[in-house]
Amino acid sequence: MSERVIPLVDQRIPTLNAPAAAFDPASRMAANGLLADRLGRPLRDLRISVTDRCNFRCNYCMPKDIFDKDYPYLPHSALLSFEEITRVARLFAAHGVRKIRLTGGEPLLRKNIEILIEQLAALRTVDGEPLDLTLTTNGSLLTRKAQALKDAGLRRITVSLDGLDDAVFRRMNDVDFPVADVLTGIEAAKAAGLGPIKINMVVKRGTNEHEILPMVRHFKGSGMVLRFIEYMDVGATNGWRMDEVLPSAEVVKLIQAEMPLVQLEPSAPGETAERWGFADAEGNHDAAAGEIGVISSVTHAFCGDCNRARLSTEGRLYLCLFATQGHDLRSLLRGNASDVDIISAIGHIWGARDDRYSELRAAQPPDTGNTPQRRVEMSYIGG
Ligand code: SAM
Ligand code: SF4
Ligand code: SF4
Repeated sequence: MSERVIPLVDQRIPTLNAPAAAFDPASRMAANGLLADRLGRPLRDLRISVTDRCNFRCNYCMPKDIFDKDYPYLPHSALLSFEEITRVARLFAAHGVRKIRLTGGEPLLRKNIEILIEQLAALRTVDGEPLDLTLTTNGSLLTRKAQALKDAGLRRITVSLDGLDDAVFRRMNDVDFPVADVLTGIEAAKAAGLGPIKINMVVKRGTNEHEILPMVRHFKGSGMVLRFIEYMDVGATNGWRMDEVLPSAEVVKLIQAEMPLVQLEPSAPGETAERWGFADAEGNHDAAAGEIGVISSVTHAFCGDCNRARLSTEGRLYLCLFATQGHDLRSLLRGNASDVDIISAIGHIWGARDDRYSELRAAQPPDTGNTPQRRVEMSYIGG
């Protein structure tokens, strides 16, 4: 096997400043909730990474040999403060954002995250509704934190879980964390009323595909929605290979062979998951048995209605999961930019967006970390 050599360059260097037009009174953009990018896609979903640190070392995300004790994690002063996050989230909401997902790294490692949730829960959409506020976690701290998160105003939660077999799970998180503790955390989230709970399983061929059926059997009828995610070529450090991707179509076929499924309508425009319901004896959806989802990020591009923006831990705005450059909003938040300036900057940045990486993937070589245009890591901008 050839050795992977990945230079430890700082992936966070490429930055774009806010477009000058944002500050020009003649081309200043106001927020009316109707913002669209160059492909006509609205801005609805904001994912905020609250830390670039994690207590797991899933090898598809933060491989141990790269994310070791010498890795240059961000100092605390570089992170957006809760006040900065809340301010920028309010301005995104003015542009039409309805859903906010807190992520990371492991978001529950951010100290006093409940305080941030409380602040975000007080924000409103342009229609005066509360935001759909959710969080993605590896579940390791949920048993301790679920009730406090709910009390702070968190509505739903997504827990990542790549298998039920303890040995497989310990190997995949690569820090020997027991699966039983995540399962207890999921129960704590359910008991606290965080729902509906989604469970995300990244499927890597040759690593955990034999966990698919046990996971489906376990979560069927539980009220939780299990979703299978194709292993993606995010970042530049996970040594991604196409032959380790198990296409969603194969996942569905495997489940169908044991439990008949019927395809369901997407729940919302821009929804990443294709929904499949468990079928009853007549071939209709059995609502009590529930549903599963597949997220085919590799085999079936869904850029056409991608309405997601991502805010990195230090306040850079990324327009695509596979972006190589972020737009620096922190300097505006920490400078003397007014709300109107920042709203205008966001408007100009989103208005110029034409990213559609997944649709173009086949035409591009994987990023090995040696290219000048290095892609950001998932742990830095969140999933
Ligand atoms: N630490 C939290 C967690 O694991 O849920 C939140 C951050 S994690 C980066 C967000 C999601 O991205 C997780 O569901 C994780 O499984 C997924 N993810 C990370 N790397 C991935 C990859 N290479 N392909 C597909 N999904 C990935
Ligand atoms: Fe940590 Fe989540 Fe990445 Fe796993 S997927 S290493 S839990 S940030
Ligand atoms: Fe959106 Fe980029 Fe993913 Fe396409 S590749 S769906 S534009 S995040």
